[in-house]
Amino acid sequence: MDVGAKRILVTGGAGFLGSFLCERLVESGHEVLCLDNYFTGRRAKIAHLLDRPNFEVMRHDVCFPTHVEVDEIYNLACPASPVHYQHDPVQTTKTSVLGAINMLGLAKRTGAKLLHASTSEVYGDPAVHPQPEDYWGNVNPIGPRSCYDEGKRCAETLVFDYRRQHGMPVKVMRIFNTYGPRMNLDDGRVVSNFVVAALRGEPLQIHGGGKQTRSFCFVDDLIDGMIALMATPPDICGPINLGNPSEITVRSLAETVMRLTGGRSELRDTPALADDPRQRRPDIARAQKLLGWEPRVPLEQGLARTIEYFRRVLGNA
Ligand code: NAD
Repeated sequence: MDVGAKRILVTGGAGFLGSFLCERLVESGHEVLCLDNYFTGRRAKIAHLLDRPNFEVMRHDVCFPTHVEVDEIYNLACPASPVHYQHDPVQTTKTSVLGAINMLGLAKRTGAKLLHASTSEVYGDPAVHPQPEDYWGNVNPIGPRSCYDEGKRCAETLVFDYRRQHGMPVKVMRIFNTYGPRMNLDDGRVVSNFVVAALRGEPLQIHGGGKQTRSFCFVDDLIDGMIALMATPPDICGPINLGNPSEITVRSLAETVMRLTGGRSELRDTPALADDPRQRRPDIARAQKLLGWEPRVPLEQGLARTIEYFRRVLGNA
């Protein structure tokens, strides 16, 4: 192992973000252990890393304890798309809460630094816009999205309690909508839904009028932010918003996807989804100040790379 190389555990490493993170860490020469139960992750996303001597995979569920020796832990395991996290909501809460307890326990035993992946969903349907980290959120505790939102909120509580109680070097990032290649075809998130529908010539479903806004961060930018946050000194624990502050309505995203794919699909209005937030945009002042980070990839460029990926997967390249 190179001097300076670390032993790094990535939970959820076979998922969309996890696979890009593993790739980046492997390229940097670290010893990477990818842990995943393949609920939404796929072996295909990490297949290109399997013959690398500094990459290992373990099939495991974070709801159960793990005993490995590591220097850093990125805790990403959790389905992120509503269709997947609502499929078995009890399991979703368990993954967030028990997963956080098990990974924090591992960090405590090994002295590893831990970076936990939280979400903009902790802000719920926000009454403050854009959302800074000190906004406490507006979350329904008993709705269909609560298993994810409240599970993530509880995991944040655990991270901060472990820090207060045990003085551990732990960190929380709140990730806003991120997109890019390697999202699942049936992922259910708006960017992949629109791109896949446009390439298949199917209608793009616009829920609740399409005036709701979102901000989309390209995966490469997000991974830069994650690695920068892990590298900060122990006094920086966050939470830190990571996302792209440029805001777009869902309808305008659909129109952009149609233009970039050159497709002819219809934009079809459908009823609003329960507890769907009306607007979402990160205040990234803290990340800019503490990490010197901000997203660099413009939406149309990131969408073009995502469309190219899905064209290949769908075989109409
Ligand atoms: P993803 O669904 O592609 O990846 C999640 C990974 O976790 C998958 O590989 C899945 O198999 C694995 N997993 C799920 N439950 C597990 C369990 N019990 N044990 C072990 N592995 C398990 O989603 P993603 O977009 O890559 O998200 C990664 C993390 O980032 C998640 O924690 C998610 O909540 C967070 N996040 C992502 C976004 C985004 O826009 N992509 C936004 C906010 C937060």
